[in-house]
Amino acid sequence: MPQNYKFEGWLGHDASSAEGNMVWSEFEPKRWEETDIDIRITHAGMCGSDLHTLSSGWYPAPYPIIVGHEIVGEVVRVGSQAAGGHKVGDRVGVGCLADNCEGLLGSPNNDKDGKKKIESLCANCSSEDPAERNEQFCPHGLWTYPGPHHNGDKAYGGYATHHRTPGRFAFALPGGLRSAHAATMMCAGVTMYSPLKRWLGFDPAASGSDGSGSGGSATAQGKKKKKVGIIGFGGLGHYGVLFARHGRGVGAGYFAEGVEEGEALRLGAHDYLASEEGGKGWFKKYYGQLDLLISTVASAKAPIRAYLSLLKPRGTLVHVGNPDDGPFAIDPPGALVARSLNFAGSCIGSAAEIREMLEFAAAQGITPWVEERPMKEANAALRDLHAGKPRYRYCLVNAEAARL
Ligand SMILES: [Zn+2]
Ligand SMILES: [Zn+2]
Repeated sequence: MPQNYKFEGWLGHDASSAEGNMVWSEFEPKRWEETDIDIRITHAGMCGSDLHTLSSGWYPAPYPIIVGHEIVGEVVRVGSQAAGGHKVGDRVGVGCLADNCEGLLGSPNNDKDGKKKIESLCANCSSEDPAERNEQFCPHGLWTYPGPHHNGDKAYGGYATHHRTPGRFAFALPGGLRSAHAATMMCAGVTMYSPLKRWLGFDPAASGSDGSGSGGSATAQGKKKKKVGIIGFGGLGHYGVLFARHGRGVGAGYFAEGVEEGEALRLGAHDYLASEEGGKGWFKKYYGQLDLLISTVASAKAPIRAYLSLLKPRGTLVHVGNPDDGPFAIDPPGALVARSLNFAGSCIGSAAEIREMLEFAAAQGITPWVEERPMKEANAALRDLHAGKPRYRYCLVNAEAARL
């Protein structure tokens, strides 16, 4: 099939690119394989991970790189062996994960360069029930950027005109979701959806719109309303409140910082606490009351002991923010032990969770707060992202993007 489009995007050539110094240029995508699809990108959400990666904050980045793992666009080419059932013209979303061991088994890339050959799918990817799979933990998983792909080529992300990726982790989008909204769900959304589901038994089939946790099947099952706190009220945190509010059988989002109170409450939070203002007041008010806290704060300097004090016995503090400024410190350790608390982490979500979240969000009419920025202004948007300005997520939009 002749290719009548070029791949162009925002290349980061060194750590200074994180300061808004990405360079627009043509690039060579991974070599085409028949398991791939090409996507004409219409929308690309901007994630804090993009900054951490451009700046080599988490690890030395293999420059040049293109970041962006909240991609929505139109399928423009489909390989003869591409998984996912995609057709040219379909609207799809791509998140953080690009491939797993399924893309290795039976392919010429298996045992490439004499590296270890896999004989079967890993335990994370091989459950007969797709809902039980957790491909995000696959030892042969690869990220949407910077890869490398199983064939050794670099993986380029979504700050671009086009994206080439194996078809397996491109998801068909429900008709009711706007593209800019769906894009930001591919990382931020599922990063919050997954821990709500795992730690609270979040049940989309029994969801309501008021977040009261009363009525419906939740009451019929005798489910007790649970209280959730969200720490850090940005792109991720606001999704925590939106999803918790719409999940019947779950209480509602509470706790926030760094944002105006009115905004948190308009999103459906039942209360708002500003940790930096209230001194001891903010944790006194909810001492020992919450079942679950999800922290989106990507700093190890967060007051973890104070957060833990908000939890009920056996409650859980889940970190989805991944700091690059040092180790977590729980001091004293007894803060964890004395009330049998859990200190946990959560990394994006599985393919099944992404599909479920998209359906749930479309059915519930969940509307994230997304600010659209022109793709050509990506450097300015990156600086604003670094400054914490988005309310609450930026989405880059290519000029010719369909207004969906
Ligand atoms: Zn992300
Ligand atoms: Zn696997």
